[in-house]
Amino acid sequence: MIRCYIGLGSNLADPAAQLRSALGQIRNVPQTTLVSCSDFYASAPVGPGEQPDYVNAVACLETALSPEALLDALQAIENLHGRKRTLRWGARTLDLDILLYGNQQLDTARLQVPHPRMAERNFVLEPLAELSPELTMPDGTSLRTLLAQCPPNRLHRL
Ligand code: ATP
Ligand code: MG
Ligand code: MG
Repeated sequence: MIRCYIGLGSNLADPAAQLRSALGQIRNVPQTTLVSCSDFYASAPVGPGEQPDYVNAVACLETALSPEALLDALQAIENLHGRKRTLRWGARTLDLDILLYGNQQLDTARLQVPHPRMAERNFVLEPLAELSPELTMPDGTSLRTLLAQCPPNRLHRL
């Protein structure tokens, strides 16, 4: 089993309920165990235009699925939640991103891991640190270092 961290985000249609529902569906992903989930956090939107605030969390999974199969499962859950892919970084009912997949580094057309923008997102780093404060990235950088360097952004625990 590989330990993975998943970033969850929503800013439409009762975001906290979207995240709770997504966690229920993650529990049903084959060959996968939901180990833990962070608290939920409210964060300011970073995408284009006027958008509602986000609710974000990070979940820890153990999985025997390949990274691509895990992404397929997560995208299926996004689709079940009515995720529309219109504007890049636009408002969304549910976003499920693979932050880390064990200690692997992946760079394919479909999948970049570690998630290439996580270091600049305190709404990812803070809940990740809640689950695993001693975590180290595959390149050896500590999560503490990333947090210390991350630009501030309005974020609070719900
Ligand atoms: P961001 O990646 O900046 O968080 P986003 O989550 O809004 O943006 P999506 O529309 O959810 O982007 O995904 C666009 C594509 O990103 C997906 O179709 C997927 O193939 C690709 N992708 C690359 N790396 C990852 C990853 N680590 N986790 C999830 N999707 C990824
Ligand atoms: Mg995302
Ligand atoms: Mg995404």
